[in-house]
Amino acid sequence: MLTVMKGPLRFFRRSLTLKIFTICFICVHIPLIAFIIYLASGFSTETIPLLGLMLGATLAGTGICLATLWWLIRPLRKLARAVNQYQEDGQPFEIRHRGEDEIGTLSSAVEAMVSEMDGAMKRLQHQATTDPLTGLGNRRWLSEQVSEEISRAVRRRASMSVILCDLDRFKKINDGYGHDTGDRVLVAAGDVIRRHLRHNDLAARIGGEEFCIILPRTKLKDAEMIAERLRSALAVLDIPPLMRGDVTASFGIYQASTGETLEQMLLMSDKALYEAKRGGRNRVVRANELETAGDRHSPPEY
Ligand code: GH3
Ligand code: MG
Ligand code: MG
Repeated sequence: MLTVMKGPLRFFRRSLTLKIFTICFICVHIPLIAFIIYLASGFSTETIPLLGLMLGATLAGTGICLATLWWLIRPLRKLARAVNQYQEDGQPFEIRHRGEDEIGTLSSAVEAMVSEMDGAMKRLQHQATTDPLTGLGNRRWLSEQVSEEISRAVRRRASMSVILCDLDRFKKINDGYGHDTGDRVLVAAGDVIRRHLRHNDLAARIGGEEFCIILPRTKLKDAEMIAERLRSALAVLDIPPLMRGDVTASFGIYQASTGETLEQMLLMSDKALYEAKRGGRNRVVRANELETAGDRHSPPEY
């Protein structure tokens, strides 16, 4: 008997339509059932009590019908709330106790789609903001991150410095040892930079063999110390078939004035980098001391 019932029961569990039809059918017939029971019990058949019975039974039927339908579609309301929440905060959700009917199927599908979409969005965002060779951020990422840092520095009246680093005579490495070796040099340079980063520093590969590091709450003399450390670390890199010392880099450093944009900082540090190249490469040059005329480029006091 139990096995005979299993098929229809499973069908019932899986069909929202059948559940709704059954509830409506039962509730619509509550007044009739009440009437039959009333008559069968031998109660009075006068009009007033009968009307009262029918009215009460109709109201009860309606109430039971609405309450059961409300309970039945509560997973749908839960799903709608979760989707709204996802649109607001972008957090994928997990629906528990889904049930096996159409609402359960819909919930599972929406949950899977949202989670897949969220994963794809994160992957795309990572690809759009990361340099695939070194794993550092790219220029777009730096522009996005640095504007937040600039606002923070303005609010706290904190200092901020930038290091611009360009590998020396990199074209010669490519031409002499091949593009693959050049790529390995870039990866190694990226690792050196990453190893020297402090918690709040931002580093990006912003050009072929050019890297930019933003140092929040850092004055020029500390930026210079960091750049010197980077310079020394790059100069002792061992990347066969290159000889130790074949990889060097030049650095332009600059302490920004309050509220300066990334473009302004890059412009100033680029001037210093140019001077470092002109001065013989493998060196660090301060932008703030390049122009003696006018105070604009001397390091700010804070
Ligand atoms: P300088 O000391 O003046 O900076 O000279 P340089 O040779 O480093 O500069 P230049 O601008 O003449 O050459 C940069 C080279 O970097 C040219 C380009 O082919 C190479 N390059 C750019 N991107 C990549 C890359 O992703 N991988 C490799 N292997 N080479 C790259
Ligand atoms: Mg170069
Ligand atoms: Mg360059």
